[in-house]
Amino acid sequence: MLLREVEYAKPASVAEALELLAANDGARALAGGQTLVNVMKARAASPDGLVDLNGLEELKGIELDAGGTLTIGAMTTYTELVRSVEAKARPILGEVCATIADVQVRNRGTIGGNVCSNDPTNHLPPLTVAVGARMTIAGESGRREVSAEDFFLGVYLTAVGPGELLTRITIPPGRHDGFAAVTLGADGTCIANAAASVGEGGVRVALGCVDAVPVLVTAESPGGIAEAVRGAGLNPPSDVHASSEYRAHLAEVLAVRAAREAAERS
Ligand SMILES: Cc1cc2nc3c(=O)[nH]c(=O)nc-3n(C[C@H](O)[C@H](O)[C@H](O)COP(=O)(O)OP(=O)(O)OC[C@H]3O[C@@H](n4cnc5c(N)ncnc54)[C@H](O)[C@@H]3O)c2cc1C
Repeated sequence: MLLREVEYAKPASVAEALELLAANDGARALAGGQTLVNVMKARAASPDGLVDLNGLEELKGIELDAGGTLTIGAMTTYTELVRSVEAKARPILGEVCATIADVQVRNRGTIGGNVCSNDPTNHLPPLTVAVGARMTIAGESGRREVSAEDFFLGVYLTAVGPGELLTRITIPPGRHDGFAAVTLGADGTCIANAAASVGEGGVRVALGCVDAVPVLVTAESPGGIAEAVRGAGLNPPSDVHASSEYRAHLAEVLAVRAAREAAERS
């Protein structure tokens, strides 16, 4: 289907991108376009303008500092995360990105677009919550940082407000991670998923596809995770792929698998 007519701008700096977004309430950031262009084609969204972030080197790149903190630019693609030597500090990132959709989606889709769309079936929202990531958000009045736990607000809704951009994601060191999912086909959409990380304070598991935002449960050790999931009072949605009860059952099974994987790596 042809797109509705839309303004297009390709800024040369983050400051210019923020100016363009602030000047037009109806404008949206364009990252990999793997969600946005599809919803525009389906007429589920009709932005007045697109602010293309693809020329912005400030939003790209993966850095690992001497202390083990990993900083990932919002415009880093899944393929770049899979291939990055620095990202191997947290192998789960590349491993999970390698399972997202197909090669075209992985070459265009970005970590920033994945979390900013906050589709509850996406792979990366629970992963960023489990690893305790910090999200940097830029606006015309400056930059602020929010935890991944506070970043996801609802279906397709995040802490990135109108006129703002997610610029980078920072992952603190000292934890070991795991991930488990049941998908539609080998690399299809998740029916349920769980991301885990083990380190100081015990085990953190973030469950995906069971609510509008990732559900975080914690336990002192992997042995306590099943009970923690049962205690979370999950009431997942039902759809053609899974009933609510089955999704809740999957969440528990996957949480245990992800926590065990994380513990085996520690
Ligand atoms: C066939 C297919 C299968 C897929 N399967 C999966 C899957 O199994 N798992 C999965 O996780 N994903 C899946 N996806 C979605 C894919 O991962 C998308 O790449 C991702 O959801 C969006 O990333 P993007 O870079 O393409 O962002 P875009 O589509 O360009 O943008 C998405 C939204 O985020 C906003 N945005 C983007 N970047 C920023 C930023 N830096 N700051 C503020 N707002 C921003 C945009 O304005 C837009 O609203 C699939 C997509 C396709 C086409």
